[in-house]
Amino acid sequence: MSDQNCIFCKIAAGEIPSSKVYEDDSVIAFLDIGPLSEGHTLVIPKDHYERLDQCPADVLASMSACAGKVASAVVSALECDGYNVLCNNGESAGQEVNHVHFHVIPRKSGDKVFTQWPSKSYSKGRAQEVLNKILRKL
Ligand code: AMP
Ligand code: ZN
Repeated sequence: MSDQNCIFCKIAAGEIPSSKVYEDDSVIAFLDIGPLSEGHTLVIPKDHYERLDQCPADVLASMSACAGKVASAVVSALECDGYNVLCNNGESAGQEVNHVHFHVIPRKSGDKVFTQWPSKSYSKGRAQEVLNKILRKL
């Protein structure tokens, strides 16, 4: 399953070059060409799925296993304190490449990679309303 207009499908097929970190039957990981920090790596399934919620469970399991493996290697190789795993889904969430991917972003204390986390709070009773809406969809 591939999309001939998709740049990540082309990377998965070896049609365009990448700095490959890891590959197995179902996933591939490679350095992001525009890193937020050194070692920033993308994990993608070889098959084309646009969003996380469209991926079968076995594909998500392979991506997660790969992200863990890559994170461990990258953090130790680059002497980082931690890492973020990020998955943008949809334009509003900042997804630019419509082939699902995990960003593994190595972090060091004080690196200022993410400077905002605009947390909010629920008004009285709103959390229960939101919860009920979600539960009706599951
Ligand atoms: P997103 O905004 O979550 O869709 O992220 C897409 C990511 O893909 C960005 O961080 C880009 O820097 C990265 N990217 C785009 N083209 C390439 C490429 N040819 N090789 C490596 N990374 C790429
Ligand atoms: Zn694709």
